[in-house]
Amino acid sequence: MAENCIVIKFGGTSVGDAKAIERVAAIVRGRLPQRPVVVVSAMARVTDQLLQMARAAGNGDRKTALTLARELRERHYNTAGELLGTALFTQFHSDLGTEFEELEELLRGISAVGELTPRTTDHVASFGEVLSSKLVAAAFSAHAIESTLVDSRDCIVTDDTFTRAAPLYDETNSKLREQVQPLIAQGRVPVMGGFIGATRTGITTTIGRGGSDFSAAIVGAGLGAERIEIWTDVDGMMTTDPNLCPDARRIKVISFDEAAELAYFGAKVLHPATVLPAIQKNIPVYILNSRNPSCEGTRIAARAPHCKNFFKAIAAKRRITIIDIAAPRMLLAHGFLKAIFDAFDRHRIAIDVVSTSEVSVSLTVDSNESIPALAADLSRLADVKYEGRKAIVCLVGENLREVPGIAAHVFGQLTDVKIRMISQGASEINLTFVVDEEQVPGIVQRLHKTFFADPDPEIFA
Ligand code: ASP
Ligand code: MG
Repeated sequence: MAENCIVIKFGGTSVGDAKAIERVAAIVRGRLPQRPVVVVSAMARVTDQLLQMARAAGNGDRKTALTLARELRERHYNTAGELLGTALFTQFHSDLGTEFEELEELLRGISAVGELTPRTTDHVASFGEVLSSKLVAAAFSAHAIESTLVDSRDCIVTDDTFTRAAPLYDETNSKLREQVQPLIAQGRVPVMGGFIGATRTGITTTIGRGGSDFSAAIVGAGLGAERIEIWTDVDGMMTTDPNLCPDARRIKVISFDEAAELAYFGAKVLHPATVLPAIQKNIPVYILNSRNPSCEGTRIAARAPHCKNFFKAIAAKRRITIIDIAAPRMLLAHGFLKAIFDAFDRHRIAIDVVSTSEVSVSLTVDSNESIPALAADLSRLADVKYEGRKAIVCLVGENLREVPGIAAHVFGQLTDVKIRMISQGASEINLTFVVDEEQVPGIVQRLHKTFFADPDPEIFA
């Protein structure tokens, strides 16, 4: 019979310095009765710095690579010095020394060859989580938390798609049960690095940038955890941007689908796709703030409870360009849309909102400098116009699926606004429209006032 446990994941800022790591120790101590398994990201900015050294080495610039590695060493030693007593620090110092020698040797090798492969990129990037997990485990010992470091490369088995490897769940789950479960049973706190894994033959891989949330979900799903806590530096998901609306509320509970819609709008809190393994097993995921641990955060659930308000959140994304493509003669002939999408593909420009009529297509993209070249390319097919300084406004809520007439409420508030495009996605839980960028604050404030005047206390804080 598996022991109950919870998985607690701390992001880069939550382990960014000694003070932050002390907060982490306090949070974990408070949860010992629930048998936590701890997953940590690299210290803030470390993964970027590692990739920078890898690139420098790949360009044959050994000096820069090694200088950056030295800075990384200093930062970890300094943090350890603040956290650990003399005896622990001495032990830790030599342990970390071995890691840094390996990193430097690797960087020398890369610069000697002058070539950086995805496989060596992953090897370099993995040091961030290897170091942070060692540091956090040592800090736990210093705080009398009985913990054991678990090398994620011994548990998270992946394919060999380096830099974004996919987990092999069956093997991973049995390794987790073998290696992590007994520690939980002994009352110890397993500490693991997120983001990293290894192939069946033991070659280090990473599972994609920001992948520590994914690691937490893999571990939680594999161990059948009661819940997963993602600790970050915000109170959770909000009804809208508090900089736009000071009366924005925290969302106490949101469905996975709703959270996924919002993620696209740079709700940087977490990318819900990464916690899918947990949601599929009905394990609730909480977003919590390590700077404000008493706040209850946001719970992401497979299904959200009924909400009296039409919407859960209003989001806006600025710096959008609308591209209008009109081809009267073609009447959207067979193959026309494909030709258009192919052009976007060639220029590697991602499309967000699409709306079509018999004779024209409008699309939105993030404003960027490749648009003129794309437009020139497209103008061989049809008449093309593009216009920047637009914004997408999106209202999200499961009620859109059920309650008729919601769109009328929304647009009834905006009778004086020129709306350029409207779309209600196939998910049926978002209502999206495009407006001039400078109208965003006014529109969002008006809609928030209308739809959150009386927030459902079960759903909003
Ligand atoms: N350290 C990794 C990154 O920055 C993974 C993570 O933080 O989730 O991408
Ligand atoms: Mg990170």
